[in-house]
Amino acid sequence: MITYRINPLFPEHHLYEVMLVLKHPNVCQQFRLPVWIPGSYLIREFTRHIVSISALADGQKVALNQLDKATWSFCSADKPAVLEIKCLIYAYDLSVREAYLDSERGFFNASSLCLSVKGYEHEPCLVEILPPPGKERHWRVATGLLPETVDEQGFGVYQAADYDELIDSPVEMGTFSSVSFQVSGISHQLVVSGCLPAFDLQRLVQDCQRICQTEIDFFGNPLPFDHYVFLLNIGEGLYGGLEHRCSTALMASPENLPIANRQDMSEDYIELLGLISHEYFHSWNVKRIKPAAYSPYDLTRENYTRLLWAFEGITSYYDDLLLLRSGVIDSTQYLTLLARNITRYLRTPGRLQQTLEQSSFEAWTKYYRQDENSPNAIVSYYIKGALAALCLDLLIRQSSEGEQSLDNIMKALWQKWQKDGLGLGETEWETFAVSVTGLDLKPFFDLALRSTENLPLSSLLASQGISCQFIAANNRADVGGCRNSKLEGTSTPSLGVNWVKTHEGIKLKHVLNGGAAQTAGLSAGDIIIAIDGCKVRHLDKYLTRYAVSDSILVHAFRRERLFSVEVCLQKAVPDTCYLNIIDHDQVTGWLGR
Ligand code: ZN
Repeated sequence: MITYRINPLFPEHHLYEVMLVLKHPNVCQQFRLPVWIPGSYLIREFTRHIVSISALADGQKVALNQLDKATWSFCSADKPAVLEIKCLIYAYDLSVREAYLDSERGFFNASSLCLSVKGYEHEPCLVEILPPPGKERHWRVATGLLPETVDEQGFGVYQAADYDELIDSPVEMGTFSSVSFQVSGISHQLVVSGCLPAFDLQRLVQDCQRICQTEIDFFGNPLPFDHYVFLLNIGEGLYGGLEHRCSTALMASPENLPIANRQDMSEDYIELLGLISHEYFHSWNVKRIKPAAYSPYDLTRENYTRLLWAFEGITSYYDDLLLLRSGVIDSTQYLTLLARNITRYLRTPGRLQQTLEQSSFEAWTKYYRQDENSPNAIVSYYIKGALAALCLDLLIRQSSEGEQSLDNIMKALWQKWQKDGLGLGETEWETFAVSVTGLDLKPFFDLALRSTENLPLSSLLASQGISCQFIAANNRADVGGCRNSKLEGTSTPSLGVNWVKTHEGIKLKHVLNGGAAQTAGLSAGDIIIAIDGCKVRHLDKYLTRYAVSDSILVHAFRRERLFSVEVCLQKAVPDTCYLNIIDHDQVTGWLGR
């Protein structure tokens, strides 16, 4: 049996002391830390935060041999009764993927702190979690791990069935708010940490409960877990989440929380509920139903699959749709979210370069490592994946005259997983969908997954009584929505850039493929200071003085060098989507609850 002791010994220095105790080790024993964490497809090299590592064999200091960036070994013909590995690990990452410690709170994924022992990955282990010095009475612990012997605050020993469960169970400690609630007889806990403004915790719990109930009802019995924990950390500028088998780590900004005594649904609050819905849906889709490429995960290297569109894209489609089905948002709010996703898709020229399958496969080097050229080169398997899922759903509904939908496939996948527990081969998702529906879906999959053709959004939405209108955005805040009036796009010409205002001038964030700026030779990072000899404060407002095909002289800095370039302005692209219900009778099946 392996025991880990997690000691948040130096919170002010963000250092955990982690002890691994292994009884009766082999003559040669290897220890390693993962290089990535499942759910976040980037090599992160967690060992870079190990400040020191040392070993004791039966209490005597012994040498460890480092084999590579993530692996150590200990060899001894004497076979000690007990081998202890002690690490001091720096933890000051605010994301949900690594570990954090200061005098206010601690958080960790064991993939950042706990070395695996080669040959013991499938053995059960114990984790003892200690409070930091002086916080014994104040701090509490929250985690999806099962307690073995813990005190009232949750400090003590937890158990994990194997290393995979250990690293799939993040731990929060500190002085958080916590509410427990039941869904379908299953205990759920919502833990909110961070510097919290006044907010309506009860409303958040109620909405959370409705979302969980909807998703549990969606997949049906049996349920994938017997308890579930939401760990939500609040901090300025934070947003994101990571799914786990019976918990999720979430982070959001104070404005994402519902304001007390207000019943309206702010866009920021809907965004948080969408995140909750997304990560909870992953309990089925990706934590259980998963690619064969992740069965099991190889934690030493990239795990390639072309199926992320099905696991992230479909989850992103259902996260908002199930908010609608649970009744926490209405159809106008849902269509607004959908229209904005379509706008994001249309504003990504990279959709014409990279297919969905490539986007998935190259997640490690492209989606997770974005730079100034990314909008021109890649398409998100979240955004296009969700729209492909929408098209697939509507296509199945249309072809089966409303008898079937994507729901049938998802439920059948869950039933299949109950029976065989197997991962899906790279072509299996498609063949399974065909076998469930009896429809010839191959032409659609070829188009949506393996081509850069535009998705047939307008025609499929029209089949559900929804009209799509695409206009050129009237201002920077215009990202599309749900409107029942005829809209006019702007006639102001465009440079084809995304920009931010800096104290030096207008900084070009992205120079989009085929746009006027790119044609003229402007680059991302250039700082525009003047047009036709006059200082520019707000690019879009300035351009309203001009017409399409006008030539302007742009004065800009590229790093230290000042230069001027003539730019021929172009017509703004109609890349902003508005949706509208034109036939309420048709809508009921898809948008109906
Ligand atoms: Zn996800």
